[in-house]
Amino acid sequence: MKFGGTSIGDESAITRTCQHIAAEEGPKLVVVSAMGGVTDLLLSASFSAVNRRDYVTTLNRVEARHRAVYEAFSISAVEILELEEELAEMLQGIAMLRELSDRVKDRLLSMGERISARLVAGALTARGHPAQAIDAWDLGLFTDEHYGHAEPLASVDQSIGAAAAALPEDIIPVVTGFLGRTLAGSITTLGRGGSDFSAALFGAALGVEEIQIWTDVPGFLDADPSIVPLARLIPTLHFDEAVELAYFGAKVLHPRTIEPARKAGIPVRILGSFDLEPGSGKGGPGRGTLINDSAAEATIRALALRRNVHTLHVHSSRMLDRLLGIFARHNLSVDVVATSEVSVSMTFDCSSSMLEKAVAETSLFARVEVSPNRSIICIVGEGLRTDPSLLARIFATCAANHVPVHVISQGASRLNLTMVTDAVAAEVAMAALHKDLLPGR
Ligand code: ADP
Ligand code: ASP
Ligand code: MG
Repeated sequence: MKFGGTSIGDESAITRTCQHIAAEEGPKLVVVSAMGGVTDLLLSASFSAVNRRDYVTTLNRVEARHRAVYEAFSISAVEILELEEELAEMLQGIAMLRELSDRVKDRLLSMGERISARLVAGALTARGHPAQAIDAWDLGLFTDEHYGHAEPLASVDQSIGAAAAALPEDIIPVVTGFLGRTLAGSITTLGRGGSDFSAALFGAALGVEEIQIWTDVPGFLDADPSIVPLARLIPTLHFDEAVELAYFGAKVLHPRTIEPARKAGIPVRILGSFDLEPGSGKGGPGRGTLINDSAAEATIRALALRRNVHTLHVHSSRMLDRLLGIFARHNLSVDVVATSEVSVSMTFDCSSSMLEKAVAETSLFARVEVSPNRSIICIVGEGLRTDPSLLARIFATCAANHVPVHVISQGASRLNLTMVTDAVAAEVAMAALHKDLLPGR
């Protein structure tokens, strides 16, 4: 059972979360993110510190968030205060040295999850459900040294399995999401939103019945509700569909979550942590969204939007290999690609400065046009494979709404269609496409 930041954002959210955990029968393992907003605050404090600006105000805000919880549940704060002291010392060090390495940043960010795990374990225990906070590495989650987006080692199944064997029975383990550790002992993070991935790694290694992602919406919706307020719950999704949607902007699920789950043959369920049904104690009417490998329906299932990407149009012939080689060397991963005999169009989700060197290198042999601030719209559904009239409808809707389409690409599975457009037009297109392709069920 993984609970994200909003599900443990304050005393009342933690109370509901404790009720959901208590209501789940049988052995369970809880994974938590930092309290909502805390990771952003820690990042902001670290940038202030390295630039010698005031970071103490931000640090005080973080501490106040934690304090409100340990006071509300009368939890012993000894360990939490120790972690907060280490956090303050780290920020002091960053300010003094004016240096913030990726390694130090990961150690600093780890405080969010390390403290929230102790708060949630404390709250559970205080409510009569004995629980124990566990740091991810003490449950075998080891990674490589790519700070900021570390890769779990191939042996995590074994190391997690071995560590779990030593867990005491009848105590609910509350494990830190988002974090890992190198074999040499440095703390790493799995990338923003990575607690979902942590939950899947633990779930897969332990062979659980279901990997549950509890969040602030009732399940996987057919569009991002902050863009399309009329978005509706999808009761079931295929693993492939969920991966495409997560990858192209459906933030409700970290895109890597499905990988370990699918490999271990374990379903993933997205559930709303606010939807407590009195009496049953179970979340979400209909129990949210079940993601597994059952056959997908032949319709359009959902839309996703990824903002703020760069497109690169490269005019030169027969050089896809060479281009991909350049971008790989600069650690840039391409999201959408469309090629013709004389040109290639690609999108990148990174800052302009990260692209600069690769663009300069490419410009030595080809004409390159860079367009920032583009958005990718991703349309997912088995229907795209079987019903050609859907493509006609999609483009007619774009035309009717004056939405320029700069790049189009369809994955080999033909399960998704991705289109690159301008930032503002993309928001218009999302509403129009949702209305046309996903009318009320
Ligand atoms: P958590 O803190 O629980 O990990 P996140 O903020 O990472 O929560 O993810 C949940 C949010 O994802 C929702 O509040 C919603 O705004 C956003 N979201 C984007 N696309 C979708 C979608 N297709 N279905 C549900 N939520 C979505
Ligand atoms: N706390 C981390 C983040 O904000 C991880 C997560 O929320 O999954 O990115
Ligand atoms: Mg999340």
